[in-house]
Amino acid sequence: MRQEKDLARAREAMVATQIAGRGVRDPRVIAAMRKVPREEFVPEPHRAHAYDDSALPIGCGQTISQPYIVALMIEALGLEGGEHVLEVGSGSGYAAAVLAEIAADVIGIERQPELARRAQETLTRLGYDRVTIIEGDGSLGYAPAAPYDAILVSAAAPEVPPALIEQLRPGGRLVLPVGRLRAHQVVRRIEKDGRGRLREEDITGVRFVPLVGKAGWKA
Ligand code: SAH
Repeated sequence: MRQEKDLARAREAMVATQIAGRGVRDPRVIAAMRKVPREEFVPEPHRAHAYDDSALPIGCGQTISQPYIVALMIEALGLEGGEHVLEVGSGSGYAAAVLAEIAADVIGIERQPELARRAQETLTRLGYDRVTIIEGDGSLGYAPAAPYDAILVSAAAPEVPPALIEQLRPGGRLVLPVGRLRAHQVVRRIEKDGRGRLREEDITGVRFVPLVGKAGWKA
């Protein structure tokens, strides 16, 4: 179909200009971004804009993150393949799909039941059978499947939720937006070494929807 071809071309252009063109280097991340059909995770009226350089509405007052930020954060996780990954705030399921292209398996946790259901449906339809979406409060992580090699958080908390540090295995990486102001946050990368010590680094300024939950913002 013509539209499909246009979207495939738009995806290639997106990777060339917004991802590789802005300094994302990890070949695994670039390959994953070239592969996942973002239009499938975007509601029908916004499909033509699936490869725009922006976040888009996905319903329930939430957004699918800007492609560049998804790529940058996943690159910061330093995945090499084979990892067990948690994503907090799965929304449309798009970032979970990108993670699944690289990692062994992905647990996604989403607090909005409607989004969780739709994300699982989309991922299953596209054949992402190594992703499981759970409905719940991801500010507490997801203990039943811990520890994780890598944790990605796609919504911003005022502080780093302690459970996410606990659920990281030694050597694991956590990448999340944090900030006391709702409108401005930084992406922080936290690595836990073999002895459980933490190394932190702030990567860039961002603006994410709030992480709402026990260890996040109040609803
Ligand atoms: N990664 C998503 C981005 C969605 S926006 C994508 O690719 O589409 C962030 C999501 O975090 C929203 O869907 C919001 O409902 C969810 N969220 C906010 N607080 C949460 C919490 N405590 N636990 C789980 N999900 C949460």
